[in-house]
Order: sequence, then structure tokens, then C-alpha cells
Amino acid sequence: MLIELSDILSVKDKELDVQADIKMDHFTSKMCDYTIIDKSPLNIHLKNIGKKKFVISLVIDITLIIPCDRCLTDVKHDMNIEVRKEIDMNESDTDKVDIEDEYFYISDNKLDSEALVYNEILVNLPMKVLCSENCKGICNRCGANLNSQTCGCDTTELDPRMSKIRDIFNNFKEV
Ligand SMILES: [Zn+2]
Ligand SMILES: [Zn+2]
Repeated sequence: MLIELSDILSVKDKELDVQADIKMDHFTSKMCDYTIIDKSPLNIHLKNIGKKKFVISLVIDITLIIPCDRCLTDVKHDMNIEVRKEIDMNESDTDKVDIEDEYFYISDNKLDSEALVYNEILVNLPMKVLCSENCKGICNRCGANLNSQTCGCDTTELDPRMSKIRDIFNNFKEV
């Protein structure tokens, strides 16, 4: 949905409330592709706070499926996004490219609600999601999910620092 900003940008103290249904059902970036399984409508409040400046307050709840960082099992991840941000469109006079990069969800005095939500998911995405604190991950030899099965692989790994010490020790023995 495109929200017209002309009044919000030009009329002093102008306020606007908008509710938008978000169509996006995947969050896709260079790094990932997560399914959005649930979302509330997006509630936006806009307010003019001076010449070509305005505030966006937005609220949306989104549930994504993100694979566990260790075992890749699907994990439901709830995001309750509640943001207030000030947008200053004056900067665009000095460096239009930068400002359009930063506010890529605004163009031609229109706010793109889908792009705005995309941006908020992006900045709120966790570094990693685990299915549980104690997730045992997958065996790096056979790929078995070690939370649900055990495998016979020899997974004793030598700490590289330990092997250095062992080398020194072995060299010492040879002398
Ligand atoms: Zn896991
Ligand atoms: Zn294994």
C-alpha cells in the first residue's frame, strides 16, 4: 500500500492514522528466505513536526519461521515491532542518493508500507535463533540431528590449541 505524504510533509501539525494489510508472506534478503506465517495489520501514525519533517509511529506483530542456527529445525520467531522514527526530508536536497537509500520506503512523497515493514524486519532480525538453549545441533560427519538421535560417528575433535601443545610435547619427547 502506498500512503500519500504530501499533506504530512507540507501541512503543519497534520496527523494521519493508517491501517494497512501487509501482503508480504516471505522475508527474503541476500542471506535468507524466511516464511511469514502470521502478521497483524500494520498500524501507522504519521505526524508533521515542522518543515518537511514528520514522525512515523508504527506497530505490527509478525511471526516468521527461522531455521535453528545449530540443527536447522524450523523455529517460530515472534516479532513485536513498535517503532517511532523521525524522517527529515530536507536532507534530500543536499544528498538525494543517500536519503533515498536510507528511506528507501519513501519515494515521490509516498510511503510504501510493504517496504517499511521489510526494513523493520531487517533491522530487528536476530543474529541467530535456536530451537532450544541446549540444542545439540547436527553431527558434522553424518548430518544426524543430535537432538532426536545419536549417531556412531567419532566426533572427538581436537582443540587446535591442544594439538599445538601436543606437538610441542611430542617434539620435546623426541629430543
Ligand atoms: Zn536446534
Ligand atoms: Zn554422525
